[in-house]
Amino acid sequence: MDLAGKQRRMTRQRRVIWDELRKLRTHPSAEELHVVVRRAMPGISLGTVYRNLVVLWKDGRILRLEGLGGRARYDGDIRPHHHALCLRCGRIVDLMPSQVAGVGDPRVLDGVFKATGWRLDFEGLCPACAGNEPETPGC
Ligand SMILES: [Zn+2]
Ligand SMILES: [Zn+2]
Repeated sequence: MDLAGKQRRMTRQRRVIWDELRKLRTHPSAEELHVVVRRAMPGISLGTVYRNLVVLWKDGRILRLEGLGGRARYDGDIRPHHHALCLRCGRIVDLMPSQVAGVGDPRVLDGVFKATGWRLDFEGLCPACAGNEPETPGC
């Protein structure tokens, strides 16, 4: 019997995947997380990691980020926050709402569209890449 609206039972595999994801600040893809989870559970397959990520995401325990540099990336931090993609190294940096205050305020849509929330993605260079910019572009 399906318990509508209830979060699914946490299996041991799912718990390990969830725990490992929450330790990371890198917003890994399923493939990247699989490499990490295999250290704790050597026999686990990529398919198992992927299926459990989908369940965790549907249960609202993790975030799934799409449209940031290709394949889906996962985030164990479900506090409301924004993301900035580094175009050089592909790193995704977290931006807390206070850091982007005033940008993308949904109230500008009053009377046009009733926004109940919004997502804002930035792209550019992460601090590490911005500090290592060559004097002249290398291409
Ligand atoms: Zn970077
Ligand atoms: Zn994040």
